[in-house]
Amino acid sequence: MRTTAVVIGAGQSGLAMSRCLSERSVDHVVLERNDVANSWRKERWDSLRLLTPNWQCRLPGFAYYGPDQDGFMTMPEVADFISEYAKLIAAPLVCGTTVTSVRRADEGYVVTTDNGQWRCATVVLATGAFNVATVPAFAAAVPSAVTTLTPMGYRNPAQLAEGGVMVVGASATGVQIAAEVQRSGRGVVLAVGDHHPRHLQCGRARGRTSGRRLEGGRAIRPEQSPIYRQFRDRLRHRADHAARDQA
Ligand SMILES: Cc1cc2nc3c(=O)[nH]c(=O)nc-3n(C[C@H](O)[C@H](O)[C@H](O)COP(=O)(O)OP(=O)(O)OC[C@H]3O[C@@H](n4cnc5c(N)ncnc54)[C@H](O)[C@@H]3O)c2cc1C
Repeated sequence: MRTTAVVIGAGQSGLAMSRCLSERSVDHVVLERNDVANSWRKERWDSLRLLTPNWQCRLPGFAYYGPDQDGFMTMPEVADFISEYAKLIAAPLVCGTTVTSVRRADEGYVVTTDNGQWRCATVVLATGAFNVATVPAFAAAVPSAVTTLTPMGYRNPAQLAEGGVMVVGASATGVQIAAEVQRSGRGVVLAVGDHHPRHLQCGRARGRTSGRRLEGGRAIRPEQSPIYRQFRDRLRHRADHAARDQA
């Protein structure tokens, strides 16, 4: 099969690219290994909501148009939002097709998939930016009796083995997961490394964790952490803002 451009991946980047190519009448296909918005459907935990408010959710020629501009979408809502966009722009999708290799050919590229080959002049790699969990080398030293998993495989507290939980990393993901696991009645330790507080400034985790912040072997309650306080103040400010808007 032959086309001018092959876009690999039907997340928001691949679809935005598709919209821009269509606008310029560039013949193309969007190859997706599963379904549109696959990362949001398959690689996020159940209770995750976007960190970005609805008013910020924009794609070329499309934006959130619901009534809750200051709200934060759930994962099914994000998947619906992106799917709606794919329909709106009539993206030339080929779903259920995994690209296994891309190689140069004289006149462009040969894109091999588990569903045939495409020849094209241009390939757009829109396969995602956050799709591989970073697991530090020391994870190999964790005893096999301790279950370890990354956020890519985490769905909800019910899947965890009995007992306490340590969440390593206290940016938006770690804080949200720690709060959720703690609400499920488990003891949680939240380990904070050396990361930038801005990650938390726009975070959305609600509630408090009873975990402790570990620093130089010292355990500190998260409430005592400047990052936590900054985050909490930010959430309070946002709640006050929402209350003022409603009044
Ligand atoms: C836990 C978490 C929370 C996040 N929260 C937010 C947030 O609140 N707000 C925000 O703006 N961003 C957030 N992000 C970032 C956001 O997910 C990414 O920026 C966004 O998904 C990138 O879009 P993308 O289209 O580039 O990639 P993706 O959405 O990952 O899409 C890539 C697509 O490529 C497909 N693909 C991959 N390999 C192949 C292949 N070989 N063949 C065919 N198809 C393939 C995948 O199936 C997938 O559908 C979050 C990320 C994570 C991990």
